[in-house]
Amino acid sequence: MLRTIRRTILLALRGSGVFNLVANSKWRNARLLILCYHGISRRDEHLWRPSTYMEPSVFRERLEILKRSNYNVLQLADALQGLQNGRLPPRSVVITFDDGGYDFYEQAYPLLKEAGFPATVYQTTYYSDHQMPVFNLICSYMLWQRRGTGLANGREFGLPEPMDLRTEESRFKIVRTLVLNSEAENLSGEQNNERARRLAELLDLNYDELLAKRTLFLMNGSEIAQLSADGFEVQLHTHRHRTPIDQQLFRKEIEDNRRCLPEQGRQAVHFCYPSGAYRQEFLPWLAAEGVVSATTCDAGLASMHSNPLLLPRLVDTSARSNIEFEGWLSGVGSLLAFRKEAKRMVPAAAGRASQGPD
Ligand SMILES: [Zn+2]
Repeated sequence: MLRTIRRTILLALRGSGVFNLVANSKWRNARLLILCYHGISRRDEHLWRPSTYMEPSVFRERLEILKRSNYNVLQLADALQGLQNGRLPPRSVVITFDDGGYDFYEQAYPLLKEAGFPATVYQTTYYSDHQMPVFNLICSYMLWQRRGTGLANGREFGLPEPMDLRTEESRFKIVRTLVLNSEAENLSGEQNNERARRLAELLDLNYDELLAKRTLFLMNGSEIAQLSADGFEVQLHTHRHRTPIDQQLFRKEIEDNRRCLPEQGRQAVHFCYPSGAYRQEFLPWLAAEGVVSATTCDAGLASMHSNPLLLPRLVDTSARSNIEFEGWLSGVGSLLAFRKEAKRMVPAAAGRASQGPD
C-alpha cells in the first residue's frame, strides 16, 4: 500500500517536471550522489540475497537511466575534489561496488565499460589472496539451495539435530554457529573450506562444481590489476572485512589490505566501512593511515559540509524501483527521505573467521 502511494507520488512529481527542476537546482548541483552496489547475480543470488545482489538486467537499466537522464558519472577522487572546491559538475553521481566479488568482474565490469562509466571497487583482500568461496557466504548459499527441507546430521559441526532449513532465520542461526565454531577452533581459511565441502556433502551438493564456477569467490590479483589498468579505482575495504576496536589491529587491516592490492592500489586513500558499520573512534585512526575519504551505507547526498570520513551513500537494490532510483538521482528522494535507513554506528565485529563480506 505504502509502496503504491510512494510510486504514485513519484510518478506525479516526475510527470510535472519536479524531478528535472530539483536535478538542475543549485542545491542538487552542490551535492554528490554516491551509489553503492554489492553483487550482480551470476545465477540466482538475487533470490538468495535480494538486499545485496541485483540481476544484471536491472543494473543495465540503472546505467541506461543514468545515461538517458544526463547524469555526470565521475571518478570518486575527481568528484570528491569537485565537492570540496565547489566545482562539481551538474547532476553528479559516483558508482561504487563493495567487496570486489568475482561477479563484479564477470557481470558489472562489462556493463560499466559498455556504458563508458567509471566505478570504484572497495576491495576486501583476504579471499582475493585465498581463492576459495567466502566461508559464511557459501554456507549460507548452500543452505538456501536446500531450503524447504531439514538436514538430519549436523552433529559433527556442533549443530542441533535436525537442522531446520525452512526459514531465513533458522538458516542464519546455522551459519552463525558455523562461523562462531570456526572462530572458537581457530580454523584457517583452508580448514573452513574443507568444512564447507563437508557441509556440501551433507546437503548433497557438488562442491567441486561450485569451486569450478568460482561461486562466491572474490576477484584475484590479476583481475583487480586489469580493472585498475583499465581506469577503475580500486580502494580500501579492510583485508578481512572487519574493523577491530583496537587501533593496532585496525591499522593492520588497512596495511594488509593495501599490501594485497596491485601496484596501482597500494597508495589507496579512499575507504569504505565493512557492512557500513562505523564508530567515532575510527575517524582519527583512518586519518592516521592517510585515508582521506570514507563511505558509509547511510542514505543521503554528500555536500561540501559532509564529514569526508562519513560520506553517505545510496545502497541500490533490486527492491528499489526505477522511479525511486530516478527520484534519488534527482535529489527528490533525499528530500522526501522515503527510505530513511538507520544509521549504522554500531559496535564493529572482530571475527577471525569472518574474513569475507557478509
Ligand atoms: Zn563489504
